[in-house]
Amino acid sequence: MTSAYRINYQLRAHKRDPLIEFIKGLLLTPFILHSKPRKPVFEPERSTLIGDSDLESLYEEIPDRPNIDYQEEDEPLMDANLNRYLEIMKSVEVMIEEHRRKAKKGVPEHSRLHRIVPSVASFFTPLPLAAAFLDANAKHSIAARRFVPPSFNDIRRLLNTAQVMAIAPTVSLITFDGDMTLYDDGMSFSDSSPLISLLITLMRANLRVAIVTAAGYPGDAAKYEERIAGLLRAFTDQNLPDEMLKRFFVLGGECNYLFHCEWKTSESGKRAVGLTYIQPEAYQPAEMLAWSQGDIQELLDVAEENLRRCAKAMNLKASVLRKSRAVGIYPTVPGVKIAREQLDECVLSTQQRLLEYQQRNTKPPIPFCAFNGGNDVFVDIGNKLIGVQVLQRYLGAAPEATLHVGDQFLSTGNDFATRSSCCTLWIVNPEETQNVLMELTPLLKYPDESFKPTPVES
Ligand SMILES: [Mg+2]
Repeated sequence: MTSAYRINYQLRAHKRDPLIEFIKGLLLTPFILHSKPRKPVFEPERSTLIGDSDLESLYEEIPDRPNIDYQEEDEPLMDANLNRYLEIMKSVEVMIEEHRRKAKKGVPEHSRLHRIVPSVASFFTPLPLAAAFLDANAKHSIAARRFVPPSFNDIRRLLNTAQVMAIAPTVSLITFDGDMTLYDDGMSFSDSSPLISLLITLMRANLRVAIVTAAGYPGDAAKYEERIAGLLRAFTDQNLPDEMLKRFFVLGGECNYLFHCEWKTSESGKRAVGLTYIQPEAYQPAEMLAWSQGDIQELLDVAEENLRRCAKAMNLKASVLRKSRAVGIYPTVPGVKIAREQLDECVLSTQQRLLEYQQRNTKPPIPFCAFNGGNDVFVDIGNKLIGVQVLQRYLGAAPEATLHVGDQFLSTGNDFATRSSCCTLWIVNPEETQNVLMELTPLLKYPDESFKPTPVES
């Protein structure tokens, strides 16, 4: 690797997922070596003039276009390609299994996969990649493509399918990011969201369902109720029993504000489902409760100063928002987009600044999360790793029984941290969340089988 290449690669690491890049690279080899175009089809008007057989023989005589340049139709390319891709997927499955065995022995760094992809995360379940590839191929015809190789998104989606297949029999806790996972950026759960019935189906399958969001409104149930109003209205309209509502939670500010769900009666006597704040002492571990207000504010001061400096240096038209456990910048004019590169610059520079600050400090470091939220940059106290771990402890769910669904899995995103504590699904918008849930829900066990959805045919 030349030094220029290495520098370029390292500086772009925050835009890549090393495992997906690795699988993509493997699939590229058979694509390059074997994916030939289909034999041309003759134009009907010409073939009626002189007949197909004449044209074929004429064609075979063209010296610079021999037939071996094309795929023989009696050996359909899709099947040959599919076999090669499946072989690769099975080999990666084997590598993942070896990595899991070494990780169980406490030496994940001895695995072949770790040697090739040093930043590879933990795998809490096996991943049936070959079966997932067959499923993805049925939907997206990946192996039939001659000019477009398997893409980053093809592989991201098939990893999701493999994870869904593997975790379905044992999953007991499923957590969702909010923005861009359940609803569009900065929006709320609408009454018409197709995700509502899917979340209720998960609860009917006895799963605990939690929204783990960066949105931080300290102890303010009404604000969170507003963000998920459509979902809560559906809970009310469907008259869900207490038993089911007990399985739904909202954890805001990454890991800082936990709410449970229950029936409430308003002053006018109207009953509706709402959220109730849970005091931190009831669920937060001692290390979290020990974070001092003074230390939190000092960390946020350093972050704020750096964010302001970044915004000024890049001439961003951005405002600063300071909360009790977060600080961030967002576009001053609503609807204006800040370029992704500028957002990433703010994130990486603030991450670096805060790590340096904590290294110089003798106090125990407070975990933080500096992330690109899509059109803003925030530094939150705590992170979603702590958020998921808090829920796992509070609800008694093991990493192999926990699934987090989110859209920010690059290293500048805030869902990324969850990978070390649970299984994950990387989606890019609410429609993809709907797709993965439509794959998952038919595979779950239901106390009442009449609630089991039928799989959607591809
Ligand atoms: Mg998000």
